Amino acid sequence: MKSNIDPADYVDHLLDGCPQAVLMLSRDGLIQYASQATANVLGYAPSELRGRPFIGLLRPEDAFSLSQALEEMRTRSRHLVVSLQSTSGAWLSLELTLVNVDDERVLAFCADVSRRRELERSTRLFAAALEHVEESIIITDAEGFIEYVNRAFERRTGYSRDEVLGLTPRVLRSDHHDAQYFRDMWANLRSGQSFEAEMVSRCKDGSSIAENKLIVPVRDSDAQISHHVAIGKVSKNHCFTRSSSDPLATTMHALREGLWEYDIQARRVHFSPHWKRSLGYDERELGSSPDDWERIIAPEDREGFQERWLAHLNGETAQFEYEHRLITASGERRWVFTRGLIIHDGDAPVRVVGYQTDITERKQHEEALVRQAQLDPLTGLPNRLVFSERLKLAIQHSQRDPDFGFAVLFLDLDRFKVINDSLGHLAGDELLRAFAVRIATCLRTTDTLARLGGDEFGILLEGVASSREAMQLSQRIHRALDEPFDLDGRNVYTSTSIGIAIGNGQVDKVGDLLRDADIAMYHAKNQGKARSAMFDSSMHHKALRLMELETDLRAAIERSELLIYYQPIVSIENGEIEGFEALLRWPHPTRGLISPAEFVPIAEETGFINSLGIWVMREACRQLRVWQCKYARNRTLYMCVNLSSAQFLRFDLSTKIDQILRETGVAEQSLKLELTESMIMQHSEYADQMLAQLKAQKIRLSIDDFGTGYSSMSYLRRYPIDTVKVDQSFVRRMCRDSESLVIVKTVIDMAHNLAMDVVAEGVESREQLDLLREIGCENAQGFYFSKAIPAQEAEAMLLSDRRW
Ligand code: C2E
Ligand code: CA
Ligand code: CA
Repeated sequence: MKSNIDPADYVDHLLDGCPQAVLMLSRDGLIQYASQATANVLGYAPSELRGRPFIGLLRPEDAFSLSQALEEMRTRSRHLVVSLQSTSGAWLSLELTLVNVDDERVLAFCADVSRRRELERSTRLFAAALEHVEESIIITDAEGFIEYVNRAFERRTGYSRDEVLGLTPRVLRSDHHDAQYFRDMWANLRSGQSFEAEMVSRCKDGSSIAENKLIVPVRDSDAQISHHVAIGKVSKNHCFTRSSSDPLATTMHALREGLWEYDIQARRVHFSPHWKRSLGYDERELGSSPDDWERIIAPEDREGFQERWLAHLNGETAQFEYEHRLITASGERRWVFTRGLIIHDGDAPVRVVGYQTDITERKQHEEALVRQAQLDPLTGLPNRLVFSERLKLAIQHSQRDPDFGFAVLFLDLDRFKVINDSLGHLAGDELLRAFAVRIATCLRTTDTLARLGGDEFGILLEGVASSREAMQLSQRIHRALDEPFDLDGRNVYTSTSIGIAIGNGQVDKVGDLLRDADIAMYHAKNQGKARSAMFDSSMHHKALRLMELETDLRAAIERSELLIYYQPIVSIENGEIEGFEALLRWPHPTRGLISPAEFVPIAEETGFINSLGIWVMREACRQLRVWQCKYARNRTLYMCVNLSSAQFLRFDLSTKIDQILRETGVAEQSLKLELTESMIMQHSEYADQMLAQLKAQKIRLSIDDFGTGYSSMSYLRRYPIDTVKVDQSFVRRMCRDSESLVIVKTVIDMAHNLAMDVVAEGVESREQLDLLREIGCENAQGFYFSKAIPAQEAEAMLLSDRRW
């Protein structure tokens, strides 16, 4: 027979009788299908729901967590409690179990837990109240295992709650009553009646207390006795009112613990009905052999369970305690905490009794927290912590297995700060995210990509046979970055410098490997960015030396050990000294005079350069003023001071200069700042403003090392530059190499066209000087005239009226 059932009807048919409302949701939360039970559970007919956004019915904060859950849950089911407004306007608490169907769809099983929530709330209230009553209270399950005792009980008997939970009140049994007494009591209770009598109990310390005991049975909704409540009052005259068990019943119902008892001799385990029920098993379903128990313990937890169990049986632990997973009747895994205690008869261990608590919710919460602590919130990638952990495992792996190779790649975005500063932090964040996604496409699934912080990323390549593979990957990454990123409609290019360290079993510390990769990355960056470098130990030594140098430099600056030397700048026409260039010198205690080419970059990187640069400027100006005043002939003498790019980028630069000029009494025109082309080109808009401002202050500007950078005269046209300094490399080659001569000549001509004058740097011979004179260069500087010399020597030179 052919059936023509609409698939929706078919599903309806399947779900008929399922008390939970079932919804099929798209990833964006639209209800594609609603089962019949929605009418009962949610108060909406299925037809009212189909096609509507489910999140529209929820509280906004729940709507948010649901849509997040729908997006995130790709592999596992999720539980979520949300509040939904039903047609009557009332808010329902719904427990949602979300199950992945496929990439697009998710099934949501909705159970109304409003009553349970209400119950839990009142339970908490009653439990709190019970803690403060004067009567001792014991609650046992139908079999007599203690599920709850209050504080009065603890006070009176000396037992703590933890010591008696899961035991029976037999621990309190004294010699005052004979066996018949208890038989009567049980007969009474089993028949559903309460029992009231004077009862003498034995406390933990062996002493006795007499209590007026009332024991009442409590029935569950099926009228079955599920628990007993024993209330004890020390006063003998007190009469108990029997109708007061209702709130207690509520309390007991809500106690969600399962009890068990294991008979050691018989090798049988007995579970309380609640224990079974809470896992979805009915009374007969689960046998009572230890194997039955083991069967429902999640396989991955069996070994741990066994270990702890034996440890307790062997007397190594005071209690059996274990957090593990159990497999429920529906095949789901729930987290439980199981605790048990061995009971001796004389010396012989006879039983282990215990209870178990469902801790699934807590575990889920913990797992979520752990996930959060491991992920970088911006990119969703593992963070530095996780990366280090994985790296540690890789190191251990390689130590066990010499054939296992791995590599660490340290990535740092080039010029990220520029993008961040110019386009704003939001764009910067966006770029980091997009960068992470782009890089991930270059990797195998087994590789780990992590954000290490800021604009630094790490990649762990496991199982790579050679450094070539790591190099190849880094090339792939560079190529992948050839394409621009689209940031809000704007094309942005970025590149990355990559340092590679190979795990070879020799380096056994995570920090050391990361550091090596980091050092190699710096190397790559210094080589001109968008490159990769493989770590080798010479880099390490270099880095160490650099670090030493940094420490020494810091100390030298603090102790004012740095000096300024002065190199004359000479007029080619008349051979007279026109000015000086101030050049830093560092007399190192063991290494002699260290060149600024070596330590200025360190000072730039560490930020010393700003205060250092200001000091140079102030000291050079002070010196200039002294010379100008001493020798009337030198009134027009000027001082050139080198500016670092960090200094140039300081907004307060011109104020600082102003202050120095006023302090030292030097005229604005007597100070000449030396900048490089790249400083201007890299920050061209800023340079526009800054140079205009300096010019407005009448300070003179020169371009240093011209010819080594962009060398675009036409570009420089827009800036108010006074002087071009031709780089010494051209001057050096000029006499032998016609191309260099052409360059020098062209620079001079173009500069003159733009009303700039020219200084040739690095003049070392008469020949060079003559040639420069011939091609119209007006000034020269170099060893032919003088090296940079201490102030005293420079002064002597001025005094002697030396000419060339
Ligand atoms: P620079 O500005 O190009 O300085 C000229 C460099 O060339 C100086 O090296 C100088 O001693 C050297 N020199 C001058 N004439 C000749 C010559 O005829 N032949 C040769 N071979 N070299 C010559 P120095 O003093 O080692 O300075 C190196 C660099 O350090 C400077 O290059 C400058 O960029 C930087 N620097 C020096 N002092 C400072 C400072 O106070 N602040 C900043 N930011 N940088 C400075
Ligand atoms: Ca210079
Ligand atoms: Ca120079």
